[in-house]
Amino acid sequence: MYILEVRQLTKHFGGIKAIEDVSFKIKEGDIVSIIGPNGAGKTTLFNCLTGIAIPTKGNIYFMNMEISNLPSHRIAELGIARTFQNIRLFSEMTVLENVMVSQHTRVKYGLISAIIRGGNYRNKEQIITEKAFEYLELVGLENYANTMASNLPYGNQRRLEIARALATEAKIILLDEPTAGMNPIETSEVMSLIKKIKELGKTIILIEHDMRLVMNISDRVIVLDHGVKIAEGPPEDVKNDPLVIEAYLGRE
Ligand code: ATP
Repeated sequence: MYILEVRQLTKHFGGIKAIEDVSFKIKEGDIVSIIGPNGAGKTTLFNCLTGIAIPTKGNIYFMNMEISNLPSHRIAELGIARTFQNIRLFSEMTVLENVMVSQHTRVKYGLISAIIRGGNYRNKEQIITEKAFEYLELVGLENYANTMASNLPYGNQRRLEIARALATEAKIILLDEPTAGMNPIETSEVMSLIKKIKELGKTIILIEHDMRLVMNISDRVIVLDHGVKIAEGPPEDVKNDPLVIEAYLGRE
């Protein structure tokens, strides 16, 4: 089943064609990487998918529901979460509190409300705290629960961002350069984490410059150049596509 469909998406900023007539479909449970040179339109695409940018033209469907013009909080509630290229955490809150705040995004609709409504009621905050610990364990941050987010080492701040995205109970997780600024060991740890998230049944869309990571974990790769989709397919096909080599990989 396709969980996301983008039809002829276009986003212009004045005379700048950031995204031009881009279409693709994403299958539920896949890891899809968006690659392309600087300024190709990758972040603008994420901004359109999450309601941060309003498309100039085109349609976006999430689980067959059109979300093209919905505000970002509504899209988050429906089940699309993201991390940012520049980490955005509540720096004056603890690691645990950062995750708990994200869980509140879905309290009205998600698992937590179902537990509470189901009569298995203990204490809302206690349930949320326990669940938050599970997310911290998943990303390997359980020993940092009471650390102030601003005091976390950089690589762990990126993991916390991922935990926060997961805590919204989103079906699609958008990761914007999750390994930016990481050393090779941290990068392979994030690679394992992304595989674990896939095993949870999540769909992952990834903007990533590390080609080893992209080729290793992606089910499909979409290549943008100057706002236009120039290739799409399994990693092996994309890697050998002459247009892609010319536009991107050849310049590495
Ligand atoms: P990078 O890899 O450098 O992050 P990108 O592929 O994410 O690049 P975008 O950031 O989406 O590319 O930018 C695509 C184009 O749109 C660029 O020419 C950029 O300057 C332009 N652009 C993006 N956001 C805006 C904006 N808010 N106002 C004007 N132009 C913008």
